[in-house]
Amino acid sequence: MKPEYPDHPAPADAADRRAVAPVICYPVDALPRPDLAAYRAARAGWIPVAQVTVPPRDARCFEVPAGHFFRITSVEGPQVGDLNLWSADLSERFYSGKSRALHGTHLGTGDRMWSSFPTLRPLATITEDTLDWYGFDEYGGGVHDVIGTRCDPYTHNLLSDGGQYHHCCHSNLTRTLAEHRGMPLAEAETHVHDVLNVFMCTGFTRDTGQYFMKASPVRPGDYLEFFAEIDLLGALSACPGGDCGSVHSSDEAACHPLLVEIFRPKAPPAGWLPPSPNGYDRSHGAG
Ligand SMILES: [Zn+2]
Repeated sequence: MKPEYPDHPAPADAADRRAVAPVICYPVDALPRPDLAAYRAARAGWIPVAQVTVPPRDARCFEVPAGHFFRITSVEGPQVGDLNLWSADLSERFYSGKSRALHGTHLGTGDRMWSSFPTLRPLATITEDTLDWYGFDEYGGGVHDVIGTRCDPYTHNLLSDGGQYHHCCHSNLTRTLAEHRGMPLAEAETHVHDVLNVFMCTGFTRDTGQYFMKASPVRPGDYLEFFAEIDLLGALSACPGGDCGSVHSSDEAACHPLLVEIFRPKAPPAGWLPPSPNGYDRSHGAG
């Protein structure tokens, strides 16, 4: 990935090889699409049942029963959120990499947050995104990525000559899970996983393929809304990077709270059933 210093000369047919058209790794035609109209119709007359304010540079947990909705809303100022989702019993967690392979680098309305193996089923479905107008900008940036991981104190330590910073999203998520479920920090940390970067604007540079971020287009009042497909435990960190327009892993950026609201519909969406665990038989060809 260093095109300015190739060790090897291009072969005579390099142009032809590069000109081969790509194919989509995972055509999703066979994936059952969510019935968005039914989900959205279920919002009529819903009742707000809980809300959690996530303080800046900190995180909070929230529980969402299957068949409920939850919204993450920007309040006060532009702010990025790092979201972890588990099944309520913590046996399943959000699988960022597979969600990326299925839906692309950034998630939007109608996309699912898939669970880890062996269940590989939708944990949540995105039902509304007020930033869906953004699309991809001229730099290749988009909103709500599943390409980043989460800011963390280990990478910060590597890149800052031994720095110790305690309010990276990884640590915030670890602390809130430990507190919420009454478990030791070290145990909670093993449950923290790659996130959905809510409201974050990111992409890869075209020349070097490096992960970039830029100031989020989110403004107070914008929200991302989800439908819980199974009983969920969520944790959301208000990233110390704020709008992630300059730096993270420090107390330098302006940071704002995020609001999580949970809604109970009068009735589940028409035709909706909680998704079953994946149908693979798990014999892996043995015996
Ligand atoms: Zn962060």
